[in-house]
Amino acid sequence: MPRPAPNSNARGLLATARHLPHPAAMSTPAPFMTTSADGHGLQPGGQVYRPPSEADSLLLQVTVGCSHNRCSYCAMYREKRFAIRPQAEVEALIDAYALGRPAPSRRVFLCDGDALILPHARLVQMLQSLRAKLPWLQRVATYGDCRSILRKTPQELKELADVGLGMVYHGVETGDDLAMAAIVKGSTRLEVIAAADRLREAGIRHSVIVLLGIGGVAGSERHAHETASLLSRIDPPYVGALTVTPVPGTPLWQAQEQGAFVLPDPWQLLGELRILVAESELTACQFGSNHASNYLPLRALLSRDRAPMLAAIDGVLARRDAGQLKPEWARGL
Ligand code: SF4
Repeated sequence: MPRPAPNSNARGLLATARHLPHPAAMSTPAPFMTTSADGHGLQPGGQVYRPPSEADSLLLQVTVGCSHNRCSYCAMYREKRFAIRPQAEVEALIDAYALGRPAPSRRVFLCDGDALILPHARLVQMLQSLRAKLPWLQRVATYGDCRSILRKTPQELKELADVGLGMVYHGVETGDDLAMAAIVKGSTRLEVIAAADRLREAGIRHSVIVLLGIGGVAGSERHAHETASLLSRIDPPYVGALTVTPVPGTPLWQAQEQGAFVLPDPWQLLGELRILVAESELTACQFGSNHASNYLPLRALLSRDRAPMLAAIDGVLARRDAGQLKPEWARGL
């Protein structure tokens, strides 16, 4: 991820967002799907997801769907049944990639939702094959969660780092155990801490995603304070704040329809972002709210740029001018 300019000020922190397609607008995925040889196109049958910062990476789909697939807000893999892709298929795809051009970023991203859940031996074999066949490769990354991280021993994670796994993107979403349970995240605050410590010890970079608004109106402040305190404890090098958007067909959408979940308005969401920025004590963290879903895109090195970030947020909160927010039509998941 590029560092902000050394002289960044509050205005300079405003970042451009990379847009991911909204799930509601996507084609209905078939149970199995694959990427084309250049890693960017799709064979008929579905859609893969990757973090915005992996836009220039080669995508290698090694699992299909998500083995958890229960988070109340997530619509990404509801149409897919989780499956591990046969090793022969993965090897054939790596062979095809080896004949093509290098990815612009020299990176590979393992899809789908939680490829880290693969058995250790399979991951090692895959990473070794990628290194052997793609000489331009500089880093492999994947999504992971507490389940997939903690089922690996510290030694296994070190082995994965040694054969090229450099980054795990982890949707922590909240530091509030009540909110985590409500969204069926399948993990706890203590497990997030254990997973973060294990990644750090292994030398694998931890990119943490948190969700503004996931505590609803009633839990908004608690969610923000608890999340800031969890981030301070795990001290990741990257944090991305996204804004939750209830998607039709998800339990969160149903809860919203029934009045059991009320999404905070943009000003309350900005208040959450302010708490995160003000209270998170992070050593060297690139903190971004520049995802397409957010109303105010910021991106900066938090330890250095906290004051101008707060000034930018406070300026918008003081004026309460909707014209200063990203328009709804430009927002998406
Ligand atoms: S773990 Fe991630 S991919 Fe799986 S259901 Fe939850 S948010 Fe979606």
